[in-house]
Amino acid sequence: MVDPVLLGYVKDGVYILATILFIYALHEMSNPATARKGILWAGAGMLLAILISGILPGISWQAFLTVNPGISTGQLEVNLSLMAVAVLLGGGLAYLWAIRVKMTDMPQMVAIYNGMGGGAAAGIAGLALIARTDTVGYLSLAVVGGLIGAVSFAGSLIAFLKLQGWMRQKPITFPGQQFVNVIVLLAAIVFGAVTLLNDSGHVGAIGTTVALPYFGINTALLLFFVLGLAYGFMMAVPIGGADMPVVISLFNAFTGIAVGLDGFATSNYAMIVAGMLVGSAGSLLTLLMAKAMNRSISNVLFSAFGSKEETGTEIKGSMKPMEVADAAALLAYAGKVIVAPGYGMAVAQAQHKVKEMMDVLEKKDVQVKFAIHPVAGRMPGHMNVLLAEAGVPYDHLFDRDEINQEFASADVVMVIGANDVVNPAARRQGSPLFGMPILDVDAAKHVLVLKRGQGKGFAGIENDLFYKDNTRMVYGDAQETVAKLVQELKKL
Ligand code: NDP
Repeated sequence: MVDPVLLGYVKDGVYILATILFIYALHEMSNPATARKGILWAGAGMLLAILISGILPGISWQAFLTVNPGISTGQLEVNLSLMAVAVLLGGGLAYLWAIRVKMTDMPQMVAIYNGMGGGAAAGIAGLALIARTDTVGYLSLAVVGGLIGAVSFAGSLIAFLKLQGWMRQKPITFPGQQFVNVIVLLAAIVFGAVTLLNDSGHVGAIGTTVALPYFGINTALLLFFVLGLAYGFMMAVPIGGADMPVVISLFNAFTGIAVGLDGFATSNYAMIVAGMLVGSAGSLLTLLMAKAMNRSISNVLFSAFGSKEETGTEIKGSMKPMEVADAAALLAYAGKVIVAPGYGMAVAQAQHKVKEMMDVLEKKDVQVKFAIHPVAGRMPGHMNVLLAEAGVPYDHLFDRDEINQEFASADVVMVIGANDVVNPAARRQGSPLFGMPILDVDAAKHVLVLKRGQGKGFAGIENDLFYKDNTRMVYGDAQETVAKLVQELKKL
């Protein structure tokens, strides 16, 4: 018989190792060059934590059995095998989906995976509240974790449905909505408190035994979760598609916090650390994304951005098309070219051709730089990932703050499938985009816009840039257009 104290040390040691791996992974993820390795290290840490939790369970089974005499050790073993089946099934399905998912569908995949994390956190909190193996102080953390997890689950599900196009993307609003939301949240908190302090006998009060923990689900606990889910649902429906990046990141932070709180309630250190890391990284990302869009978090959550149509737009001029051969000549004789990529480059998978074009231009002594807007594409870092995949060196990529002053000195700016992030309407009061920091591409001598037609951007707003005197539209699929540009450039 192995000494349980020794086993405890082994388990804590493995948790510390997993923690070190998580922190190292985050460090690696902070740089595009090492980000992939970071993901692998984080995965290894998570695998270790899951294995050791399965072999030496985190919830104190001894204490659980003491307060639940109705449960046999055999049943516990069945539960552990069921957990293994769940891990294999969930992991397998996630793997199959992840290798098939298109890069442009990543945001909804992140949303749904994050929602699953929130749901799991809510489930663990529910079990901790049923099992009651801890003091009321720790169990109150399970109530908070359960509520946050349920909100994250329902909210992320709505984000997934909206991004997948299975639900109306525009905000869904009604009079008195925020009042109703507050009432639902307060009611959830009340039922959470009732669950915690309940001594009705279904869910045992602190210090009492629990009768039939798996079947005697307390009504208060059920209502607590139903109201938590309803709040998550109602929090997400009034949020428009354009605010989804911020919201997904916020729900991601929620899931991390819920997992961390569950870790306290079940004395699982790996959950505490992993949860708090996700919670803090998610919170920071939320703030950075909100800053990139010049919005406060409360504005994102409560202003129903995108529900109002644009008013007072008076765009003068017309869109002026340009042939590929003329565009190539403009580029070949430029001294400095800045490429501003957006979602259309991802749709067209044009990044490899763009890299080829960069090489051809550099051979002609044209300086080429890339301007990366933080919300270009459909997920944070979308453009960095695509361009890195195509082999564009990192020192060619510049953040909005670094490059915005340089557009005025550029001979040509090539906007490849970007729209909202280069829309000067953001400078105009009354525009729904007003205040969002953009790439000031219109300051360049010439602007080439590569897109298929008259399609609007994600925010659904007309773009002033396309009508400016120094802008020329090069119509067509971005990959095909850039391929033709490369051919033309090679002839020059
Ligand atoms: P936009 O979505 O604003 O515009 C993309 C443009 O690409 C469209 O106008 C479209 O025009 C063009 N396009 C589409 N397919 C192709 C193609 N095959 N070839 C060439 N062009 C194509 O993109 P931006 O990157 O400028 O802005 C991102 C928007 O997405 C922002 O509003 C942001 O808030 C939002 N968002 C960002 C997320 C993130 O985390 N980064 C997540 C979710 C939303 P046409 O149809 O005429 O070709």
